[in-house]
Amino acid sequence: MITVENLSKSFWGNTGPVVALEDVTLDVPTGTITGVVGPSGSGKSTLARLVALQERPDSGVIRVDGFNTAALDPRRLRAARRRIGVVTQGDLLPQRTAAGNIALPLEQAGVDGPQRREKVGKLLDLIGLTDKAARYPDTLSPGQRARVEVARALVGDPGLLLADDPTKSLEADAAAGVLTVLDRARAELGATVLVVTSDAGVVRRIADDVAILADGRVAESGNLLSLVQDSTSQVAQSLLPSID
Ligand code: ADP
Repeated sequence: MITVENLSKSFWGNTGPVVALEDVTLDVPTGTITGVVGPSGSGKSTLARLVALQERPDSGVIRVDGFNTAALDPRRLRAARRRIGVVTQGDLLPQRTAAGNIALPLEQAGVDGPQRREKVGKLLDLIGLTDKAARYPDTLSPGQRARVEVARALVGDPGLLLADDPTKSLEADAAAGVLTVLDRARAELGATVLVVTSDAGVVRRIADDVAILADGRVAESGNLLSLVQDSTSQVAQSLLPSID
């Protein structure tokens, strides 16, 4: 559904150009969870913004459903953006309930009430918050709000669910709850998920495939289990000791 080929992106910093990404190629197989892990400054957020089609690369190609997004007219680019459900953090509307927040993208798309209710009901079940449907965000815990944000990103049946640091600033239990939701989205909805994180534990817990970013480059990538069984692999060195 989405392919990322040879992406490069630089920014102009105080002391000259800063290379954020260099020649990054990434395969996100349909129906799997791919984790991109790397330290702060390795280019993860830049990659997430490019994949979300919020920014353009300096070079390289992002294809959505086979189409080179750089060549799309504005209308088709908007359609391509709708194929990517971006999990954003901290921006639930305070005056809308959990259900109302999840339903908002459907209202904006003109989906009728019965269909909206059915879809929102399924997603509330998926995130384990059916009993909190009528609650306002400020009466939910941070972990519950984060799950609502994932449901909102899923509501339009995106081809790709993209989460940049979805467990950021959550305590362990709340973070585990968010990862369970991503896992259920893959298992029960057949979602394709791309998770970008600085926490190797996140990748260990849910990823099928992993790419390690270092200094804007993919240092290593492939199937998580194959990589951790390969003793020469850098992924194995960094992730294996804590695999349970
Ligand atoms: P990460 O998410 O892994 O911390 P980022 O993608 O945020 O990494 O940043 C990668 C590099 O690109 C860093 O050196 C960062 O300072 C630089 N960078 C990212 N975005 C910008 C920007 N908008 N302007 C200037 N430099 C940026």
